[in-house]
Amino acid sequence: MDEQVKVDWERCVSFHGHVCPGLAIGFQAAQIALKLLPELGEEPYNPKSGIVSIVQNDACGVDAVQTLLSSTFGKGNLMFMDHGKHVFSFIRRQDGQGVRVALKYGAMDNERHQALRVKMMDNTATPQESEEFYQLHEEISRHLVEAPPEEHFAWRKIHFELPKGPRLNPTVQCAFCGEGVMEQRASVRDGRIACPECVEKYESRVLVLNK
Ligand SMILES: [Zn+2]
Ligand SMILES: [Zn+2]
Repeated sequence: MDEQVKVDWERCVSFHGHVCPGLAIGFQAAQIALKLLPELGEEPYNPKSGIVSIVQNDACGVDAVQTLLSSTFGKGNLMFMDHGKHVFSFIRRQDGQGVRVALKYGAMDNERHQALRVKMMDNTATPQESEEFYQLHEEISRHLVEAPPEEHFAWRKIHFELPKGPRLNPTVQCAFCGEGVMEQRASVRDGRIACPECVEKYESRVLVLNK
């Protein structure tokens, strides 16, 4: 493994807490972005302006995206879409040019690993099978990290209009729980301001109104 790749991979593993194929998927996707983003668009790339990452799953791989691209919820440059797909888009904030990276269907298939995973989850694996599982887990992860990216991924250039300027988010008080909530997320129930949490309870009738 190339020295820089090794260092980057170890940073991801330490942030995520373990080695797994899922982390390796996010790692490779982020590597593709790091390589391609500087080459996109007409303007010269300005790494300081930052990258916005859109992830279509909330699995292990997102931790590699956070580590390598510094895309985090706190900074507002990590967007999650609950699509259950191993698809990651990376966009340059400076001009909206980006790349969409998708794991190829079947790229992760390994029958033995899958069979052992089922046994591990049912707690029916023998000590030998458990050892074999972890060994395969490591091997698959390592292969994902080291293989040429086109073996497992397909990607294409995209353009994405990012919202301009900082957004002002005034806080209002929810009349039901008394807590503060961003105005744009609040709505009205029974003529009173309600936060999304109370709206959910209200709609499922857990919340009884005391007028
Ligand atoms: Zn994991
Ligand atoms: Zn509330």
